[in-house]
Amino acid sequence: MKRTALISILIAATTLAHSSITMSQGKELSNRAKAMDTNKDGLVQEGEAQGMLKSNFKDMDCDKNGGLDGAEISGFFTGTECPKAAAPKKKSKFPPLSDRAKAMDTNKDGLVQKNEAKAILFSNFKAMDCDKNKGLDGAEISGFFTGAGCPKSATEEPLFRVTLLGTGAPPPRVKRFGPSTLIETDAGGFVFDAGRGATIRIFQLGGEHPLRARPYFARADKLFLTHLHSDHVEGIPDLWLSGRMFGRLTPFQVWGPPGTKSLMTNLEAAYAEDIRVRHKAKKEANKIIARDVYPGEVYNKNGVSIRAFMVDHQPFKYAFGFRIDYAGRAVVLSGDTKYCQCVIDAAKGADLVIHEVAAVSEQFKKQIPFFATFEDNHVTPERVGKVFAAVKPKLGVFTHLVTYGVSPDKIIERARKTYSGKMVVGKDLMRISVGKVVRVLDK
Ligand SMILES: [Zn+2]
Ligand SMILES: [Zn+2]
Repeated sequence: MKRTALISILIAATTLAHSSITMSQGKELSNRAKAMDTNKDGLVQEGEAQGMLKSNFKDMDCDKNGGLDGAEISGFFTGTECPKAAAPKKKSKFPPLSDRAKAMDTNKDGLVQKNEAKAILFSNFKAMDCDKNKGLDGAEISGFFTGAGCPKSATEEPLFRVTLLGTGAPPPRVKRFGPSTLIETDAGGFVFDAGRGATIRIFQLGGEHPLRARPYFARADKLFLTHLHSDHVEGIPDLWLSGRMFGRLTPFQVWGPPGTKSLMTNLEAAYAEDIRVRHKAKKEANKIIARDVYPGEVYNKNGVSIRAFMVDHQPFKYAFGFRIDYAGRAVVLSGDTKYCQCVIDAAKGADLVIHEVAAVSEQFKKQIPFFATFEDNHVTPERVGKVFAAVKPKLGVFTHLVTYGVSPDKIIERARKTYSGKMVVGKDLMRISVGKVVRVLDK
C-alpha cells in the first residue's frame, strides 16, 4: 500500500512539474530557473545551472550563447527540442523589477499594480507612479528608494545601499545582533564584520524564504574585518557555511588585519568534518580565500574602491575603519575606535558616516564602576557629534552601541550638543540608500 501511495505522489509531482514548465513556455524563465539566475540576466549560465539543467546544459543550449533561456529549457523538458531560431532575448517594455517587487507582481506583467503592492510600495504608490500608468516599474521603484525621484529617461542611479545587519556589541541582545554591515552595489556585495547573527539578518532580508534570500547570500561573498575582537568575527562560520547552503556559489573571500588568514585557516580545520560529509558538492563555494591586509586600498574592482585606515583600538596593533567609494559617493565605517582624527581625515567628503558609540548612565557607572571605561575606550555621543561636525556627511549613523542605561533618543540628545546635522541611531535591518540624497529606506 505504501508503495502505491508513493508512486501516485511521484506521478502527481511529475505532472505538476510538467504543467508548470509548459505554462511558462516562451523566453521568460520559469520561477525555478529564475532562482538559479543569480546574475539576473534572464539566462541560466552553466555556472548557475543546477540539477538537470547542469547535467544537460550543452544539449539544452540551442543557440550556443552560453546561457539557457525559457524556450530552450521548456523545449528540452517538453520534448519539442530546440526552439526554431532562438530569437534574441526579448526586452521587457518596462525597466525590470527587483526580486522584492517581482514577488509582488502576481499577474507577471512586469509592473506592480496597487492591489499587488505591499508595505512602502502600497503606502507611497501615488508618489512612486511617475508616469501615472497605475503600475510601478523597476525604475520608478528604485528612483523612489534611492532618492533619485522619478526616472528621467535612463538616468537611474546605481545601486549603493547599506544595510545594518547588526548594531550591537558584545552583549548578546536579541534586538541588536553583533556588529555587521552589508553594502550592496551593482558591482557586488560587501560585508563588514560578521558579528553574532549576521547570517540570520541576511536571511531576514529575503523574508526568511530560501529562494528569495539567495541573491543576498550570493552577494555576501566578500567579508572585510575591522579587527579581530570576538564580537566582530564570531558570526563568520555561520556566514561562510550557511551562506554556502543558501545561495553563495563562489568562494568566501575575507580581508582583514594580520591574523585574519590564521583565523580562517583554523576555522577550515575546525569545520573539516562538516565540509567532508555535507558540503562535498560545489567545492568552489566551500573555499576560503583569506588575506591579511594593511592600511591602504585593499580592494579595487568594477568601480568599487575599499580603503582600510588605522583607528585607535588598543591594544590591537591593527584595527581598521573602512572607506568605500563607489559611483562618486563614499561611505565610511569607523570600526571600533576611541575619538580619532583618523576617522575625520579618512571620511573627508563622505556622504554617509557610520560611527560606533558608547554611553553609560551615571547609575550604571555607580553600580559597575568598570563600565565607565567603555566611554574612554570608545566614543561618546558628544564626541561622535564632533566627528560628524568636522566631516559634515549627508547622514551620520550610530552603530555598535555600547550602551547601558542610555536610550537611542538620549544618544541623539547628547550628540546634538556638538552637531546639528542629520543623524540617526541605527537599528538592525535599517537600510540606507546612498544616492544624490542619502536616506533611510525603512525601519
Ligand atoms: Zn566591538
Ligand atoms: Zn573591538
